[in-house]
Amino acid sequence: MPEDLIGKELLGQFRIIEKIGRGGMGEVFKAEQPAMERMVAIKILHAKLAARPDLISRFRREARAMSRLTHPNTVRVFLYGQLENTGQLYIVMEYLDGTDLARLVRKEGPMAMERGIRVMIPALGALEEAHSVEVIHRDLKPENILLTQQGGIPDFPKVLDFGLAKIRDAKLRPGSMVLTQEGMVFGTPEFMSPEQAQGETLDRRSDVYSMGLIFYELVTGRLPFPKSKPMEYIRHHINTEPIPISERRPDLNLPQRLDPVVRRAFEKNRNDRYQSASEFADALKSLLPSSAVTTAMRSVPGSDEPPKRRSDTQISGPPSSRPPKRQGGKGIVIALLAVITVLLIVVIVLLVTGRQSTPAQIPVQPARGHQAPLSQPVHQPQSQ
Ligand code: ATP
Repeated sequence: MPEDLIGKELLGQFRIIEKIGRGGMGEVFKAEQPAMERMVAIKILHAKLAARPDLISRFRREARAMSRLTHPNTVRVFLYGQLENTGQLYIVMEYLDGTDLARLVRKEGPMAMERGIRVMIPALGALEEAHSVEVIHRDLKPENILLTQQGGIPDFPKVLDFGLAKIRDAKLRPGSMVLTQEGMVFGTPEFMSPEQAQGETLDRRSDVYSMGLIFYELVTGRLPFPKSKPMEYIRHHINTEPIPISERRPDLNLPQRLDPVVRRAFEKNRNDRYQSASEFADALKSLLPSSAVTTAMRSVPGSDEPPKRRSDTQISGPPSSRPPKRQGGKGIVIALLAVITVLLIVVIVLLVTGRQSTPAQIPVQPARGHQAPLSQPVHQPQSQ
């Protein structure tokens, strides 16, 4: 059926243009929505996922939660439902013209540390908003973060697929291993938290773990464990001590001050990790020169409008490759205001004391224009 869709109309308002790709849960198509003059991406889930009523209601719950996320770094969900003819579940999202982080690192090599941090901070902002409404991503990996351009700003990350893993993982019973009967693993072993690998109940800290690994891979091109087969990573997450990031690629000269900041994101015990995405973002921010942080937080179109339930730490700004703006202007204005205030006080004091003593002693500047000069006080000295 999927290829048959090309060129066809779907849901009475979308014209399918091409297939973009295929993932574990279904296929993604690029489509045009003429009424809105925009491109959208439509993800159509595998038919087998629509065969179970419990999955359908779970999908509806998750999709509803996803569609309420308003963070600028979260992919926007426009519509979701079930196709009439096949019963397949679908999600219509904004179409993103960009490259995912995995592909980018494969193509260009590891990112410079500062650039990587600037990409991570807004992506963590997207997570913070989702977590605040109890949406846990569960399948964060470099493939699920697309770097786009927005309003001329390069390196604008967009996080994809919030909550979808919950539908896919629905067969997983608490306490069971992630292996299915077919020997398949749910999720992506390379970026899976130890608690996920052991089939435990997940919370936001599982996403923090995955984001720590994503950052690690983004700036080193490697994971913090010896190169392994995918399934072996599960054991590494549970037991293996990670390689400090500054030692992973000595040729990159990453600073040692990065080690504790990154390490804390993927501590094996979730109580030892950053307890939220915003905490991790704050720690990363502390590694940036202060002017770069201000720029990274300021320059998104619409960033003046805070997303709902944004955290106090305000981490929603986009990364920016613009040169940091100079911060000196504000200081000069404050200093000038202070000088003017002091001068005014001096003048007032002198005027008051002058009125009480000899007016001729008041050293006052004549005012410009036609106004009566201040030096001509109301009571002129009487010439004796
Ligand atoms: P999985 O579902 O197993 O996690 P995946 O993340 O690799 O797999 P999908 O999410 O199904 O795959 O995406 C398939 C392809 O579609 C990927 O190349 C992805 O970058 C692309 N894609 C997904 N959503 C969009 C979107 N909104 N705009 C543009 N491309 C998208």
